[in-house]
Amino acid sequence: MIAMVLLGVGYSAIAQTKTGKELSALTRDAIKQIPNRDLVTGEIIPAEKLITSDSVVEVSDMTAFCNQMGILIEDRKKFGQAFTLSNNFPIFINVDPTTGSEFVEYQKRYPQIPQMALVVAAMLYHEQTHARGERDEGPAYARELALLKLFESNGKFAGAQWASQYLVLVGQQLATAQQASDQLRVRMVR
Ligand SMILES: [Zn+2]
Repeated sequence: MIAMVLLGVGYSAIAQTKTGKELSALTRDAIKQIPNRDLVTGEIIPAEKLITSDSVVEVSDMTAFCNQMGILIEDRKKFGQAFTLSNNFPIFINVDPTTGSEFVEYQKRYPQIPQMALVVAAMLYHEQTHARGERDEGPAYARELALLKLFESNGKFAGAQWASQYLVLVGQQLATAQQASDQLRVRMVR
């Protein structure tokens, strides 16, 4: 139901959001790193399910966004740094600096640490799994980790000493991933 409202309004009409060419450089660079293949099943992802700059929306005022979308107060606590609504596109990124989203921190570090785009790419790849209809966290973390490992094996994390620890962290989240327990699919802050 939320997605229906969204499509009726159009993303650009939603309070404090950016999409397409207006996305941050970090998000746009992350999108370029995402493969069009499902790294778990090996299948080519259909064109309409690919992540493009038009299927990602940055939200800079989560309170205004939730008010406009009619999202309940008790559900707002569940939002982390990226999420989908009703297991569908678009993928929203929480760039609201008042919410503790880690994306905001990634953005600060990005000018000095270009590998942040790889972390965000894997995060979006996780959310793409949900946007393709998967409610559970396990399959989403499996894809996130698979993409991080691909980057690592291609040498893209060369010089980033924190990367191996980050992969361990995502691996732990995969190991403890819970099945979906409610309709609103969100990614928790970690
Ligand atoms: Zn998730």
